Amino acid sequence: MSDYNELYQQVILEHNKKPRNFKLLDDPEAKKAVGKNPLCGDHYYVSVALDEAGNVEDVGFQGDGCAISKASASMMTQAVKGKPKEDVLKMRDEFHQMLTQALPEGHHLGRLTILQGVKEFPVRVKCATLAWHTLAAAIEGEAEVSTE
Ligand code: ZN
Repeated sequence: MSDYNELYQQVILEHNKKPRNFKLLDDPEAKKAVGKNPLCGDHYYVSVALDEAGNVEDVGFQGDGCAISKASASMMTQAVKGKPKEDVLKMRDEFHQMLTQALPEGHHLGRLTILQGVKEFPVRVKCATLAWHTLAAAIEGEAEVSTE
């Protein structure tokens, strides 16, 4: 196994075992959405609190699904904390592009590029992007998103 494959496996296993920000926010002002990927059975709630300037103050997720969907959601919550919502929406586009085309030039994905191995498994792309679409829906005021 190559070093990259090993890292990819390790990161997914580790986030799956100990997902970060695995909670829903108490904040009544928090924006919430639910995301479903019926093909795989992934099902997540994402809640996000924005400060007055529109930066992500706190974010959490709950739900269930395959290892890739959960690891991706966990890594997403770490990556977007403190970021302006516009940047989060841009990251969602970049992440989707990374898995369906190629890593865009000048991207803002940082450590999330570890997940680009998902590109080799097209049926898993929807698993990996589900949390991102759910977070974007919450930010944009939509209550529900489905990959189908
Ligand atoms: Zn899945």
